Amino acid sequence: MSEEQREAVELGEDKPDKEIDDAEIDLDFAEVKRTPRDFLNVLVSTLAILTICICIVVLVVTVNLQKDVAAIKEEIGHLAQTSSVYAPIASEEDDESALSDVENIHGDKVDASEAADIVEGEELENVIWDKDTDGSLGIRRVYLTFDDGPSSNTDKILDILDEYGVKATFFVVGKDGYYSEQYKRIAEEGHTLAMHSYSHVYKDIYQSVDAYAQDLSKLHDYLYELTGVDCNIVRFPGGSSNTISDIDMREFAAYLDEQGMVYFDWNVSSGDAARGYVSAQQIENNVLDNVNKYNNAVVLFHDAGNKDTTVEALPHIIETILESENTVILPISADTVPVQHLH
Ligand SMILES: [Zn+2]
Repeated sequence: MSEEQREAVELGEDKPDKEIDDAEIDLDFAEVKRTPRDFLNVLVSTLAILTICICIVVLVVTVNLQKDVAAIKEEIGHLAQTSSVYAPIASEEDDESALSDVENIHGDKVDASEAADIVEGEELENVIWDKDTDGSLGIRRVYLTFDDGPSSNTDKILDILDEYGVKATFFVVGKDGYYSEQYKRIAEEGHTLAMHSYSHVYKDIYQSVDAYAQDLSKLHDYLYELTGVDCNIVRFPGGSSNTISDIDMREFAAYLDEQGMVYFDWNVSSGDAARGYVSAQQIENNVLDNVNKYNNAVVLFHDAGNKDTTVEALPHIIETILESENTVILPISADTVPVQHLH
């Protein structure tokens, strides 16, 4: 053993040192290999704990919120029962929702009493008139009449009438500033421009004969200025047999008589005024099943923006009537035998 080797043995720096170094290198290597897995384990554990914590917090918040909502509901229920302020609001909302689908001829929402009148008016329009003799033997006359226009459908109706070369009668209302061309077109194309009502608001026009007269004269003057037609043919909103007016309808009829005006009801209803959807087929059946019962058939339709099925039904109705024997379609005139519900 050399001097150097002896020294090394004494200092314990030979083989043992090398073994320690190897062991340390192994340990270091093992640590380097284990670190990502450890980190992943820690991360998963942390996430799991975090998730549990979040779940607990959410659960606690939800339970508390439910308690709060229940308490608020109870409070509102209590207030609604005891407070006189809440009760009318609640009942007003009920009324509105019950009548929410009732619109006037302009498509606007109306108040409860007018809505009730409109519903009653619609029902009256489906009453079938039973008078079937009028002495006009031989030729059957059919009068197509359109109430409540003009509207966004007027041009379509006029185009169809033009296509078949037939003339009809339009009982118009006052829509000042709108549909000027359609009022004029009705008159210019040889149809009868007739009066329904300027406002068509039942509770206003049937308040008194004076109120009715004012409304009608407003419409008369409006139509005269716009078209030059001096209208004298009238249809009462709801018909002459309406039960909306508290005043006897004979008083209104007598007023028209004084004015040299004549009113017309109908004996065939197309049923197109019914609320909700009425199919073109139904409208066609309502007209064609009844039109042959009368020598003078006055058929009620509506000219309104939401009555597309009326327009849809019209061509086949006209075709079928024109194909019937000894039957003509005419516009109402001063010579037409009046079809009136009042006797
Ligand atoms: Zn009407």
